[in-house]
Amino acid sequence: MAKFDLGSRYAEEFINDGEIRETLDYAEANKHNRELIESLLEKAKPRRSGNGYRCAGLNHREASVLLACDIPELNERIFELARQIKLAYYGNRIVMFAPLYLSNYCVNGCTYCPYHAKNKHIARKKLTQDEVRREVIALQDMGHKRLAIEAGEDPKMNPIEYILECIDTIYSIKHKNGAIRRVNVNIAATTVEEYRMLKDAGIGTYILFQETYDKKSYLELHPTGPKHDYDYHTEAMDRAMDGGIDDVGLGVLFGLEKYRYEFAGLLCHAEHLEAVHGVGPHTISVPRLKRADDIDPDEFDNGIDDDIFAKIIACIRIAVPYTGMIISTRENEAVRARALELGISQISGGSRTSVGGYEEEVRPHDSEQFDVSDQRSLDEVVRWLMQLDHIPSFCTACYREGRTGDRFMSLCKSGQILNCCHPNALMTLAEYLVDYASPETAAVGWPLIERELGRIPKDKTRAIATEHIADIRNSNRRDF
Ligand code: SAM
Repeated sequence: MAKFDLGSRYAEEFINDGEIRETLDYAEANKHNRELIESLLEKAKPRRSGNGYRCAGLNHREASVLLACDIPELNERIFELARQIKLAYYGNRIVMFAPLYLSNYCVNGCTYCPYHAKNKHIARKKLTQDEVRREVIALQDMGHKRLAIEAGEDPKMNPIEYILECIDTIYSIKHKNGAIRRVNVNIAATTVEEYRMLKDAGIGTYILFQETYDKKSYLELHPTGPKHDYDYHTEAMDRAMDGGIDDVGLGVLFGLEKYRYEFAGLLCHAEHLEAVHGVGPHTISVPRLKRADDIDPDEFDNGIDDDIFAKIIACIRIAVPYTGMIISTRENEAVRARALELGISQISGGSRTSVGGYEEEVRPHDSEQFDVSDQRSLDEVVRWLMQLDHIPSFCTACYREGRTGDRFMSLCKSGQILNCCHPNALMTLAEYLVDYASPETAAVGWPLIERELGRIPKDKTRAIATEHIADIRNSNRRDF
């Protein structure tokens, strides 16, 4: 067994197969250990500290015991604790974003992804800068302020210069009241120099899904192309952080391998980033494998049902309380509603997963990456969120004010969220209601804003936010 060392820069040492397997045995052996599980729940619960809360979090071994827990009453308490932690740190705010597919050219052979190089059915497309502009205007017309750009891996068709040019185009477009304020990037693992270029281009979070932490499966699922290199892929976040990117987003594609293995691997990865770089992942995404062009998810035997999926989300929330969690439109409305309560802090809305899809009247399917389960418009998603008492937020203030990496984490830990993020979220929601919302959505939104303003603890902050929102309603703008 390779040495287990979270502080090592070698993938096989910080994602150590032996350690993960021992963790799974330990979790299985303790799945009925009421005393241990109760002590973990006690350890992980939010505690008052100054104006805010502190949570101890759990390590991969401890969290794996909660995930394996087989006692129904304790499982209920796990869900309840996840809800409490979510409210303590994120309140009822949900950050909105949309993916923007730039190019589906890809040289890899990933067996679960329709972009794989051997797929001759899928229409290959790469946006020109004019097309990027039209896509972004379509997204701005919906009200989006935050995008995640996506591209296949193809050094000739999608070199870093192309990605940088697209980022530049996106940030440069000012259209009506719209401007994209944060571009997150989900492109293949690359070099420190290229990560530095992305940092200099002003990206928000660099997102890269591990797909699976199980090296043996990884090699089989990625038989050809640069992505075949497990170590290079797994060490990508270290290179991104060495290149100056503070905010990185992890994720595994659930359905490819056994979920308990993935869960432990994901947490080892988060612990490794914290140990080496002093800050854990900014976000964790929880994508599940979906049907796509020539991909049938039933051909992979590790699909998980909605209950296990919910439990994974709850256990991640408990283990890494300060990390944002993202759910995409791969999931349907009901699954998303449950996930939001248990820990999700960011969701996409009105998404199209085809290259050039936003410009089209009707959702195109010819170059889609996967089937979208939640096909509602952004307006419908925003209204639905508010009806469930969440606050859809279009805020990007932290990023614009340089609160990334550990500076963001300190804000989270300081308990200033209700005085800082909450008013910002309300102001950006007010902007959305004035600029983009349908009358039905606005009718739900204004009373919600009114109610939520009352929850801002500091009198002065509440007064300022109230005044700003009145200005927005009267179309008298400031930049939040
Ligand atoms: N090319 C980049 C890379 O190699 O990481 C990422 C871009 S890809 C557009 C984004 C993610 O989509 C992948 O990391 C993978 O997890 C996910 N994906 C691929 N095929 C999928 C499928 N059939 N269902 C759901 N998600 C899928």
